[in-house]
This record gives sequence, structure tokens and C-alpha cells, in this order.
Amino acid sequence: MILRVFTTIFGLMLCLSLTGQMQEMTEKQAFVQDLMDRMTLADKVGEMTQLSIDVLSVGEPYNLAEPHQLDADRLKRVLVDLRVGSILNVGGHAYSVDRWHEIMDTIQMYAAQKETGIPVIYGIDAIHGTNYTMMATLFPQQIGQAATWNRDLARDCGKVTAYETKASGIPWTFSPVLDMGRDARWPRLWETYGEDVHLAKELSAAYIEGCQGEDIADAESVAVCMKHFLGYSIPWNGRDRTAAFIPERQLREYHLPTFQAAIDQGARTIMINSGEVNGIPVHVNKWILTDLLREELGFTGLAVTDWEDIGYLVSRHRVAADMKEAIAMAINAGIDMAMVPMDTRFPVLLKECVEEGMIDEARIDEATERILGVKYELGLFENTDFYKKGYSKFGGKEHAALAKAAADESIVLLKNEENTLPFSTATKIYIEGPNAESVMALNGGWTGTWQGDDPAYMHPEKMSVSAALKDKMKGAAIVSDPAMAEVIVYVGGESTYTEKPGDIENMALDQSQINRIKELSGIDKPLVFVLLEGRPRIIREVVDDCDAIVLGLLPGNEGGLAIADVVTGAVNPSGKLPITYPSNVNDLLTYDHKWTDVFDKNFGWNGFQPQYHFGHGLSYTDFNYSRMQVQDSADGFTVSCWVSNTGDRSGKEVVQLYVADKVASITPSVKRLRGFEKIELEPGESKQVQFTVTRADLSFVGEDLNWVFEPGDFEVMIADQKAEINLK
Ligand code: BGC
Repeated sequence: MILRVFTTIFGLMLCLSLTGQMQEMTEKQAFVQDLMDRMTLADKVGEMTQLSIDVLSVGEPYNLAEPHQLDADRLKRVLVDLRVGSILNVGGHAYSVDRWHEIMDTIQMYAAQKETGIPVIYGIDAIHGTNYTMMATLFPQQIGQAATWNRDLARDCGKVTAYETKASGIPWTFSPVLDMGRDARWPRLWETYGEDVHLAKELSAAYIEGCQGEDIADAESVAVCMKHFLGYSIPWNGRDRTAAFIPERQLREYHLPTFQAAIDQGARTIMINSGEVNGIPVHVNKWILTDLLREELGFTGLAVTDWEDIGYLVSRHRVAADMKEAIAMAINAGIDMAMVPMDTRFPVLLKECVEEGMIDEARIDEATERILGVKYELGLFENTDFYKKGYSKFGGKEHAALAKAAADESIVLLKNEENTLPFSTATKIYIEGPNAESVMALNGGWTGTWQGDDPAYMHPEKMSVSAALKDKMKGAAIVSDPAMAEVIVYVGGESTYTEKPGDIENMALDQSQINRIKELSGIDKPLVFVLLEGRPRIIREVVDDCDAIVLGLLPGNEGGLAIADVVTGAVNPSGKLPITYPSNVNDLLTYDHKWTDVFDKNFGWNGFQPQYHFGHGLSYTDFNYSRMQVQDSADGFTVSCWVSNTGDRSGKEVVQLYVADKVASITPSVKRLRGFEKIELEPGESKQVQFTVTRADLSFVGEDLNWVFEPGDFEVMIADQKAEINLK
């Protein structure tokens, strides 16, 4: 009886909510249809065009007049005559919030002058916070957010990024990166959530939830742009935008799931991979852009190219003889909007392609409807000056505290011999190294400028590692001669880069840094190596020379303070590696490799000796795992275990569940992460952690390229606890 009443109520609720959704769908569709009926072909190709702010500004693209000024003639030509529907980027560097408001007001004012009056959708790379607005809150880069293994932090970082981006007048961010960081050489590794699919899926879903909130039209929400679909992150030679060769099974197993999860989470826009996969530039790959993305993943939002990628079909990929052929190939494959971004001929050429029969007008209608649909969902037809509501928390203390908490949890303590760390604030320390004084090195690329290398656009009050340590240490505790110090701190790693300029010839840490660390280790003092880097540079030669190694990754504006707090013990480190830290340049395996990958030349299984394993990260306290229990459930199994803090200070621990399929029809990975939970324990406290694992979680992409669960034996592992289970 109770069940029946419940079922009826539930049925009624479902009906109501479906009706609500359908009503909304119809309202949106009716609105878009009405607009479409009034649009000419010129209006539609304008909508499909996205140009950089450069082409609206005084000066030459990539070399604008300073201070930035919009150019009235160009505004009119682009926004009114050419009816361009989308603008992106900054003219070289970040602007103040007020300047952004002026820019937005002007752009929308011109957009309103064209016959349809359709507002512009402005998109920006808000990659680790609203990094193109001066004084915004800057979080750890995505790899650092991944190192926190903390869904709540990822969600909150998304929320604040959306808030501050909206405060800048911008409703659309080109983030998050859903490419898998499975090749440590790739210069965009730090823009990913690391190498593991499960971790990346969980954190990106949380981040997107934070950004988009309940409704992307809300004053504090933005539309995200998943990128870069599909198969961008494992170029064969390790360099950015070079050829990748990825069998379909791998594409589906490792590269598709993050996008599927993000679509399920409500992501409404997607950016396409600039590279080629298996000899076909993704921008012309109909199978990827239409069959997979639309029919299989069910994506209904808008697909935008990456930077200049239609042009590159001619100049780089050489699959098209000229721009018109390239445009037709890309649009026919499924591109809705072209990030041109500088050439104002695009809408004209696109229109010619339609008039000459190279592109069917139905494809243009489909693309335009998708673009208008997203503009509608963002509420842009209702108002574009949402930023006038006032955003008093922009760049303020509350947001900085969140950035600090995220930075704290992103720091990974790789090594700590004889409790070198933490040292007291009264210790005499000596600090040096190429990244010691740099706020840029804490932030990396996409900070103030694309490359993040111009100090003029750094937040003036944020502290480098050295400044933060000086602030924390009492007066004379900083000495200028390493021989006089009780502890030596060396801050090295990489300097900033983004995309192509980050290509490297050699994974090793710079020789000059290796030499200097060796010299410093000759002075008989504890040596702490703080690494600020976007990818794991090989440090094997100096690991033994260092007593402690702190991996800061790219912790953002509060990273200096976070590192100072970690080394002095105010913060107990809890970051865990979201990647495998390799020890040798020829050994770039991920933790979920196959068995044969580690079969060594002595016929043993020792062919995988990374410097530090995926999931590794030390704490100042000790955690003990016990009493793991595995139990069959209707759809898989549940597993629980107890974790105790056996040390003398409170700490956070990431409980990691791995499962290995013992025998499978496709060679199984040695293990796969299938759950994680970050918990906090006081000294002496214990908690039980439980995970539910379904058959779907244990499935893999089988011989017929479908996900399959194969019954059999599985090994279940949490830290040192292990058990086997047989599933029918
Ligand atoms: C990058 C994208 C970025 C776009 C717009 C491209 O070069 O690959 O990730 O969103 O530029 O700035």
C-alpha cells in the first residue's frame, strides 16, 4: 500500500517535472524557431563565426595599441555588417573588471544594432579562476586541483570561477580540460586532471556542477566548454598539436568517458581537438564530431573549433587545398562555430560555400539553432548586462581563503627523510632557486597573459614561496649564506609556458638546477627541494641529495603561502599524485598499464620503477588501514575498511580503492582506481570507509568495442589491504 502511494506520487512528480521540461523545451524551441524564421543566410553564418577581440580593437591582431581601445569602425563592420555572433579572448593581457564592463557594454550595444539584434556570446579561458581579469582569485591549475582528490574543493573552485567570470560580464568559459593526462611529455599535462579516468570524471563533474549551478542563466553561473574533443592529449611525439594514433578501443576506454560524464552533468558546449587522430584532423572527422558526439553521447549543445583550426586544415594538416574547401569539410563534419579567430573573411566564405552547394543549408540551420539555443539557455536574450547586479565577493577574502584551502590540499609531499619537515618558524633557513621569488612560477600559464610570463599582470599582493616564508619565519631566521643555515630550501622546477611554447626536448630537470642542488647538498645541512612544475621533470639524479621533496605543481596565487605553511607545519600535507612520477625518460607508463608493460629483461615483473607512484603523497601523521571486508551485492560488491590516524596530529587522507580484473578477454590493466574518498582524522581517531562497486564499474571496452562486464575473479585493494572476490 505504502509502496503504491509512493509510486503514484513519484509518477505524478515525474510527470510534472517532464511536463516542466517539455514546456521549457517548447518555449526555447519556439523562441529559436521564431528567430530562425526571420534570419537570412548572412545572419546565420555570422552566428557561426567567433572572432578574437583583436579584430574589434585599435592596432594589429596580436599587437594591439596600448592601452586597449575598441575601434568603432571595426565594431560596426564585425558586429553589425558581418553579424558575428561570438567574440573571445583578450587583446594580449588581462583587463580590470571595469574595463571588461566597458568592453561588454560596447560590444552588446553594437550587436543590438543589427537587424536581428541577437546578442553576442563572449567566451574566455577562465582556466584556474578568472585569469584574464585583474585581481581575480586564482586557484591551483587543474593538475593541482586533481592532486587534492577533493570533489568539494573542485566544485567550489568552479563556483567561484563562475562568479568572478560573470562579475567580469562574461557568461562562457573554455574550461574544463577533459583530456586525459596520460603522456607526461605533453606541455598541457597541467591543464588536465591527471592520468586516471575515474579521478578525472569525478573532479570534472564536480567542477562543472560548481560552474553551471542549477541553471546556466543564473547570475552566478556560466556555461562551461568541455575540451578538446577527442584524443588530443597523447600525441605520438609528445609535442603539442602533433599526430596521435589511438585505436578505437583506447579512445573509448580512456578518452571518451570524461566527456560522457560531463555531458551527463549538463555541459552545453564543447571545443574540438586541434590535432589529428589516426591521420584525420579531428575538425574534419565526421565519425567523431557527429556519430560519436551527437548520436552516441547524445550531445545537443554547440561545438566550437579550437583556435584557427579550420585555417590549419590548409596550412598545417594539408587535407584541404584552400579555405573554402576547409570550411566545407569542417562544417559538414559537424562544427557549429568557428573560432576563426582573426580573419573576417570567414562568414563571407562560409556563405559562398552554401551558395555554391558545398554545404547544405540544413547543416547551417542545425548549427545556428544550437548556438541560439545556448544563448537562450544563458538568458542572453533577456539581458546581457547581468554584471551590473554587483559582485561584492570578487577577488575578496572569502574567495582567497578557498584558493588557499585548495592550494594547501594540492601540495604533495613526495619525500621526507627523518622528518626533515616540518621545520619550526624559528629555524634558520636559506632559500634560493629560479622559482623562489616568482609568483608566475606558482601560477603557470593562463595567468594575466596566455603564457603567464608577464609580471605586470600578476596580482601585486600575492607572495612567492620566498616572500611567504620570509613573512612566516621570525625576523633573522632567513640567512643569506647556506653554510649558516639550519635548513636549505631550493625552489626549482619549470618556468611558465602554455601549449606549443611548452614543447620540450628532454624530460629531465634543467642541468643547471641539478648542478646547483648537488652543490647545495654538499653543504651538510638538510636540503628541501620545492618543485613548481606543470609536468613531472625527471629528478632521479637529485632525489638522494634531497632530504625532503615538496611537489607544489602549479598551486596558484595562494601557493606561496600554502607551501610556507606546509614546510613549517601549519598545514599537514594531504595532496596525492594524480599522475605517475617517472624516474626515467624512457619509462613514461601510467599506473594502470598492462602486465606485459612491466615484464623486465630478467623475465620478472620489475619493469616499472617510477620515481613516485600514482596516488602517492606523504603526511606528517600516520594512517593505518585494517579490517577490509568485501561483500557480494546484487550488482557487484561493497567493500569497507577502517582507517586510523596513529600519529600525533590531525590529517587528511585519501582512501583509494583499486580493483584488478584477474583474467579478461582484453588484456587487463594491472589495477584500476574504482573509488576514492578524502577523510579527515584527529590523532587516535578511526573511521570506516565504504565503497560500492557495480558491474558497470568493472566493465571495460571489449573486442566488439562495447563496454562489457566479464564474470570472474577480481582483486580488491585499499592501501595494504587486499582481498579477492568472485563475481558471477
Ligand atoms: C587552446 C584552447 C583555448 C583557445 C582559446 C587554443 O589555443 O588550445 O584550449 O581555449 O586557444 O584561447
